[in-house]
Amino acid sequence: MKEMNFLALAGGVGGAKLTDGLVRAVGAEQVTVIVNTADDFTLYGLHISPDVDTVMYTLAGVANSETGWGLADDTWENFGMFERYGSAPWFRLGDRDLATHLLRTEMMSGGATLSEVTRRLARRLKVPTLILPMSNDPVHTLIDTDKGALPFQEYFVKYHWQPIVRGLIYEGAAEAEPSPSVLRRIETADTIVICPSNPYLSIDPILALHSIHDALLNATAPIIAVTPIIGGEAVKGPAAKLMKELGVEPSAVEVARHYADFINGFVLDERDAGLRQAIEAMGVGVLVTDTLMTSSDDRARLACEIVTFADQLRPEKLGGCLLDQPKPSGSPQ
Ligand code: GDP
Repeated sequence: MKEMNFLALAGGVGGAKLTDGLVRAVGAEQVTVIVNTADDFTLYGLHISPDVDTVMYTLAGVANSETGWGLADDTWENFGMFERYGSAPWFRLGDRDLATHLLRTEMMSGGATLSEVTRRLARRLKVPTLILPMSNDPVHTLIDTDKGALPFQEYFVKYHWQPIVRGLIYEGAAEAEPSPSVLRRIETADTIVICPSNPYLSIDPILALHSIHDALLNATAPIIAVTPIIGGEAVKGPAAKLMKELGVEPSAVEVARHYADFINGFVLDERDAGLRQAIEAMGVGVLVTDTLMTSSDDRARLACEIVTFADQLRPEKLGGCLLDQPKPSGSPQ
């Protein structure tokens, strides 16, 4: 098989799952992932980078697959102590997870950038895949809601994404530079995958960096987006609710339309097969398949299908997936 440069754009859970599938499908070193950093925030002086950590922990095989965030088998002793002090935080950090935030913050206080820190931490966790935070500059998603303007984590964690959303602002995005090598990776990629992440909360902050959006418009590689919406519902989280509140029908068609200016292919869930023509009418190729990733084999199978689909979207074939026959879902991981 030829060397391949797979590039994924990802938020947290949905992005991490498909990136993990791509790593299994084509090999860890053939994949680079650009991750949203507009959810980053500071708690007790610590730099928390939730999507970067979800991707890093998932690729390291140490993620908590039940919560979708944090580390597997973590403990919460620090939370009990906060409670004793009468100041229980609304954002909980696991005891082991704390080590990541403490180290990151210390390294950044010493002058390292977020991308340098991510590279060091990922190396220690034996993750060979290059994880690129979208930017080393601060970008913050601000959510305009019926309860006023809320920083992302307050909307998402403190208020459990219940406030009605009126609009979204990606503060700092206009001035932010992509982190080093992001633009080059887009230019030199063979295949670009927009993971089934939340289009508004996870992918749009990345696209809000104009040079990234321009690079995608000019990319020579096929760009394939995977739907996060199945049967009008999000698999997890606020994507469908948010679309309704923004006056957009929550459907895979609208997700495809959202990305239509730069994608060549769209992966539609088989439960929505009837929407195929509406997406093809946008001039976008469509792969219809099961996009639900409930096991690690599901992730690999979906990624393999995307590898094959990408080959159909370009003149020259690059070769298939490393896993010829992924095991059926439900088999031991
Ligand atoms: P977050 O930052 O942790 O919210 O994660 P993302 O934005 O990366 O992912 C959230 C999105 O992933 C949601 O809109 C989900 O609908 C979608 N998602 C999660 N799991 C799956 C899955 O197995 N299949 C598909 N198609 N979408 C998924």
